[in-house]
Amino acid sequence: MNKGRETKPHIGVFGRCNVGKSTLINKLVGQEISIVSKQAGTTTDSVKKTMEIKGIGAVVLIDTAGIDDKSMLGEKRVEKAYQIFSQIDLALIAFNNDFGDEENKLIEECKRFDTPYVLIYTKSDLSPLRKDLKETIEKTYNQIIIEFSQDSSESKINLTQKIRETIPPTAYQEKRILTGLIKENSVVLLVTPIDSSAPEGRMILPQVQLIRDVLDNNAINIVVKETQLEYALKNICPNPDLVITDSQAFDYVSSVVDEKIPLTSFSIVLARLKGAFDEYVKGTPKLDTLKDGDRILMLETCSHQPTCEDIGRVKLPQWIRNYTKKSLEFDAVAGLSSLPRPITDYAMVIQCGGCMATEKQLQSRLLPIIEKNIPISNYGICIAYMNGIFQRATKMFDKKQ
Ligand code: SF4
Repeated sequence: MNKGRETKPHIGVFGRCNVGKSTLINKLVGQEISIVSKQAGTTTDSVKKTMEIKGIGAVVLIDTAGIDDKSMLGEKRVEKAYQIFSQIDLALIAFNNDFGDEENKLIEECKRFDTPYVLIYTKSDLSPLRKDLKETIEKTYNQIIIEFSQDSSESKINLTQKIRETIPPTAYQEKRILTGLIKENSVVLLVTPIDSSAPEGRMILPQVQLIRDVLDNNAINIVVKETQLEYALKNICPNPDLVITDSQAFDYVSSVVDEKIPLTSFSIVLARLKGAFDEYVKGTPKLDTLKDGDRILMLETCSHQPTCEDIGRVKLPQWIRNYTKKSLEFDAVAGLSSLPRPITDYAMVIQCGGCMATEKQLQSRLLPIIEKNIPISNYGICIAYMNGIFQRATKMFDKKQ
């Protein structure tokens, strides 16, 4: 399946103003994509460009603002540059002969997000990297510095090779969604309600991804609407190996599908693939202790018009209010944009299936929330919990994490 830009591996390029980040990217990509100027602070917003790396495929390079930007808008730009850490699988840290606090801070951030990094001395064509500095950095960080010269094609080859060696394979290797749950010729019954909230003339991405994944596992798809489920179970496949339903139909589907048949939801299998499945399972019972006035954050990963808008912004909040019988406030945030208020204002965070984000992006997005011990859950897991089928929908994953 062709990946959208959102789910390709992301590489952030960081460094001080005028350290040569944009030139480095231009050299890697082979075209002029960032404004390159000797004047500090030229790169304001992050610029993204896709390049192809042999053995990995397409990756997205993100050029960020200088992290020592002291201009009027500097603080905001620097904040934005640091926010990029929540989106990336690898950091390229560009520096000159003044390696110091700024670079150390970037490396600390890499460690916090468990993001590998490459240290690049960017101006070796102008002046060689000081020997003492090279030795100190390499010893301190146990890293070999890449010395990059924009005039040398060998530099580009070396850096590309280093990126290939450093970027984690999990960032670019396709993961099968249903690994461990089905085998060749397993019959998977997919239940996809087509109601007024379904997009016109097509299926939503999680459904498409699951259909493809079943085929990739050499298994068999049977796709029905919930109104056809009983007929299908009676006349077409009385004993499917697995039933996956849209979360909204969980209640009805679980009443129709025999207890012995494994049943879960699109959201839950995607939550297992990406995000923080164990944290979701641990955090979901928070629904039972919510109080009047508590605020809940709904995180959706579609960057523009969320395909699941109706669920995250209308249906799920209403179902949670009905379930808890509490007066609750909900905020919804789309994409990887910043939060409307401090994370500590929220009693609970509920994440969508995240089909439009990379695994690392979802994990990095959730990290600051987990660090603050705020319970997190996932749309499908919440719905299963409120319908009393939490155990049934998640137990098949106990030994398959
Ligand atoms: S990223 Fe989230 S909101 Fe968007 S389609 Fe996927 S599950 Fe739905």
